[in-house]
Amino acid sequence: MLDAAFFRRWMTATTASVDREAERLTALDSPIGDADHGSNLQRGFTAVAAALEKEDPQTPGAVLILAGRQLISTVGGASGPLYGTLLRRTGKALGDAGEVSEAQFAEALRAGVDAVMTLGGAAPGDKTMIDALVPAVDALGDGFSASRAAAEEGALATTPLQARKGRASYLGERSIGHQDPGATSSALLIAGLVEAAG
Ligand code: ADP
Ligand code: MG
Ligand code: MG
Repeated sequence: MLDAAFFRRWMTATTASVDREAERLTALDSPIGDADHGSNLQRGFTAVAAALEKEDPQTPGAVLILAGRQLISTVGGASGPLYGTLLRRTGKALGDAGEVSEAQFAEALRAGVDAVMTLGGAAPGDKTMIDALVPAVDALGDGFSASRAAAEEGALATTPLQARKGRASYLGERSIGHQDPGATSSALLIAGLVEAAG
């Protein structure tokens, strides 16, 4: 079973990996964006970590709803509302249970990813975070490590794609040949699950 402490560890691990990889995420956002993805997420997850410390939410759902709210209010880019919606919707789907099974979490994360697709209008293959998140959710039934591998593979597979959503889509064919920054950060988020399960 997964308790509130697990979800806090997930957020803490993601904050640390976003810090570690911020320069790389911003560099990926340079040729096909506006070179701010790393700093956007760094600001967002720093706020998440601080809010979790201060408010000390006691259920899995409350942890994710609080984290999502912080991302929405502190990240001034497309990725903030999208990641915020992902975590908030996932948290809502978990309800107020003190512990959830891995299957319940997989179902909730599916609802979160669906909400991101509804909000942003992106489908798999559009060269966005969805290209890492959908395979990650599909593989979650096989465990966190399988999900991480699927997300990393999905992020790498964005390179040959032409962007159809977000800032990169303005470049048309010139977006081809670059890995999507949001798919890359989504792979970090999913990798945080493996660390949290530690
Ligand atoms: P901005 O483009 O506003 O500067 P960021 O650089 O923080 O925001 O985030 C860019 C990432 O957001 C992209 O690499 C892509 O993965 C994701 N993204 C942008 N628009 C969408 C969308 N409509 N649906 C899903 N993901 C999107
Ligand atoms: Mg950007
Ligand atoms: Mg921006």
